[in-house]
Formats: sequence, C-alpha cells, structure tokens
Amino acid sequence: MLFGKKKEITPEIYSEDFCQSCSEKTKRRYEEGDYIYGSGLQCKKCMSSNTVVTAIYGEYPEEDTRAKA
Ligand SMILES: [Zn+2]
Repeated sequence: MLFGKKKEITPEIYSEDFCQSCSEKTKRRYEEGDYIYGSGLQCKKCMSSNTVVTAIYGEYPEEDTRAKA
C-alpha cells in the first residue's frame, strides 16, 4: 500500500473571455500572452473580436477543488 502518494499534476490554466458586444463569457484554455484585461479570442457567439480577458485561473483536472471562486 502506498502512503502519501504524491501526484505532481500541474493545474490546467484557463482564461475567460468576455465579449463586449454580446456579453458572452467564454472559458477556454489559457494561451501564452493572455493577461487580464488583454484582448481575448474572437467571440464564438457573435464572431466579434471585441473581447477582453476577464479572468485567468488554474484548475486541477481531476479534483474538484474550488479554492477560488
Ligand atoms: Zn459576442
């Protein structure tokens, strides 16, 4: 039996884009160069590129740890 098994999983980083045209929020994988209030990706809903990154956060893929709201 293994005690103290150390899982070295790195959290998945996500970015949240907010579309300023239709107010759609899109959670997606973080991409290098993303920063809060930087420009996000094109909105998938209205195809506007008027989006802004409103959040960047890490999530562990297996555990549902919601340390940050
Ligand atoms: Zn939109």
